[in-house]
Amino acid sequence: MAIGNWVSRNIDELIAFRRDLHENPELLYEVHRTAGKVADALRAAGVDEVVEGLGKTGVVGVIHGQSNTSGRMIGLRADMDALPIIESTGLDYTSKSPGKMHACGHDGHTTMLLGAAKYLAETRVFDGTVIVIFQPAEEGGAGAQAMIEDGLFDRWPCDEVYGMHNMPNLPLGHFTTAVGPNMGAVDMLDITITGKGGHAAAPQTAIDPFPALAGIIQAIHGMSARSVDPFEAHVVSLCAIEGGNAYNVIPQDLTLKGTVRTMNETVRDHVEKRLQDIVSSIASGHDCVGALTYTRSYPVLVNHEAETHFAVAAAGTVAGADNVSLDMTPTLGGEDFAFMLNKVPGCMINIGNGPSANLHHPEYNFNDDAIGWGSSYWVTLVHQRLAATEI
Ligand SMILES: [Zn+2]
Ligand SMILES: [Zn+2]
Repeated sequence: MAIGNWVSRNIDELIAFRRDLHENPELLYEVHRTAGKVADALRAAGVDEVVEGLGKTGVVGVIHGQSNTSGRMIGLRADMDALPIIESTGLDYTSKSPGKMHACGHDGHTTMLLGAAKYLAETRVFDGTVIVIFQPAEEGGAGAQAMIEDGLFDRWPCDEVYGMHNMPNLPLGHFTTAVGPNMGAVDMLDITITGKGGHAAAPQTAIDPFPALAGIIQAIHGMSARSVDPFEAHVVSLCAIEGGNAYNVIPQDLTLKGTVRTMNETVRDHVEKRLQDIVSSIASGHDCVGALTYTRSYPVLVNHEAETHFAVAAAGTVAGADNVSLDMTPTLGGEDFAFMLNKVPGCMINIGNGPSANLHHPEYNFNDDAIGWGSSYWVTLVHQRLAATEI
């Protein structure tokens, strides 16, 4: 049966699965229910091997093709976690866990890959092995890295790996991606400026950390504008400030939190070094002690050239070449699939979610009409990359 017909026959079940996940969102590594449902569905579909608990709560399914003369293996990856957001969609399957919400469409990603896994396990018209990877903790927990460290690619040495994310306001049935770096590295800043607390009416007896803080904020913005090549995309955003709680007390210390996004490792190193210099030297110029903890989180997401063309070819077969673009505008948003692409050649593609609220917005919802497009893309990619040999 062609994948299109299979989707038409199974779409109600897939939508019900997606809506059940939507109603029961789970955060980070706590995706126990979701992972359990995925593993049960894979087993029920006759997937050859189902491994749970990889990278704490990740799930891997292994599907053998009707032959394996190629000896090749490809990985397809979806993410399962939700976000700490209070949902305001008003849907009849709205989150039953207030403060948790599938606001990034990972309920849809999981469902599209599950649909493809079911079809592939049922039909097996391919030559080689497919690994379906369902990861926890994409939203800030580096679940992809946890699965890799737990042996994902040692146990299943994939030749290629592919990911997919929905994109609001890209029309349904459209796909977009780009070769090379197209999502930013994500780093965290924690700055502490320590002075000496005292009476607000006698500042000469204290060391006020506020002037140092003001200088540091200005210098960071100046650094960004003046010391980084204007053609290098990057951003430093200061997002939280803490310290002091009275009208008449100079606080002992102040803290500042923020994020740095960069598109290549050289700029990343440069920005980290400049920030360290700025924080310590400006603080000491004000007789304070400045400390910066710079935490590297997700790396730059870099799509490999050949695999990106394979992904685009598969999407073009499903959606028509005119509906697939290879000129996606890069974003400084992060995506932990970058960890997988640093290990195995592959590509992250974006699938149209149609008109919708943006990702991470309390009114966002994954579009069920994208499920068929997404499952068909996965299956077509497998059929093209692991083309069945004539029997
Ligand atoms: Zn997200
Ligand atoms: Zn996401």
